[in-house]
Amino acid sequence: MWETIYGRRELVNAMQKAISSRQTAHAYLFYGPEGIGKKTFARVLAAALNCTAAGTKPCGDCSSCRKVLQKTHPDIIWLAPNGKTIKLEQIRNLKRQAYLQPQEGRLQVFILEKADTMTEEAANSLLKILEEPPETSVFILLAWHPAALPSTVASRCQLYAVSRLDKESMEKLLAERGLEEQASLAEILAWSEGIPGRAMLLADKTARQALYDKAVDYLSRLAETDTVSLLSAELAEERELPGLVDAAALVLRDLLVRQSVSEPEGLLMSASLQLPDDLAAKWPPRACRTALRIALSLLKDMQKPVNVRILLERALVEIKEVLTHADSGRSTV
Ligand SMILES: [Zn+2]
Repeated sequence: MWETIYGRRELVNAMQKAISSRQTAHAYLFYGPEGIGKKTFARVLAAALNCTAAGTKPCGDCSSCRKVLQKTHPDIIWLAPNGKTIKLEQIRNLKRQAYLQPQEGRLQVFILEKADTMTEEAANSLLKILEEPPETSVFILLAWHPAALPSTVASRCQLYAVSRLDKESMEKLLAERGLEEQASLAEILAWSEGIPGRAMLLADKTARQALYDKAVDYLSRLAETDTVSLLSAELAEERELPGLVDAAALVLRDLLVRQSVSEPEGLLMSASLQLPDDLAAKWPPRACRTALRIALSLLKDMQKPVNVRILLERALVEIKEVLTHADSGRSTV
């Protein structure tokens, strides 16, 4: 089943080694942007932990593996936010079950989707069991960033980044889903930046335009607002934050292209999307270039295990400075 995971050789090797030497941990945290493939990875690991084959695990063929694939294994328990958050009651139920013996397998595997949405009480409650996990339980937490979880929880887990796919793997994956004929394949590849789930989403033109519009909206509001911290808090809540910052970078890049070339059609990344006309006049090339540089460096920094909120706010303050200044600067010329 490992072969169903594209790329990520390092991560796959680390897991295979742990499985074959029976040195698996009781808690894992897999992190990466929405759509990167964390759930797929968690499923394969859960299968490996309970596979009954003698050779390479998971074999994909024993009764345990087949149940994992069919999502009917009674010892693989998935937990997702109830509404916007994972609540204390959900963690309490999970803990009650974790102290019981597995029904069929060697281990009970609890997979917490969007673990970063746990309420403070839920996280504190989970922490207790992570400190002394039952022998027969494994917890797999999925989050977009370790810093989005309380450090006490993250420090109890083995941390692994689920990395982006290279272009070749992305093309292979898109072809497998029948999307290689898409007219805007190049655009989708550029936008999705190695994130399979994002590519699937962007294959829908309406979704693509919606993300682009949202980025334009945030940039416009940023240039006009007096309180960056409010906007920053709102932005930090976005599930698709990296995708959105990425889209903002794309908007800025497209603005630059439009400002500097008389016939930009072939050069625009978002060739099939609409970019508001007034923006190119409002923000001069120099402002766009500086703002783009800040956005790109933010994207790069967001991949490191750091406090994203602080990074985000700092970048927004800088971009605001550039855009607002550009606005008022022009009016005095
Ligand atoms: Zn198996």
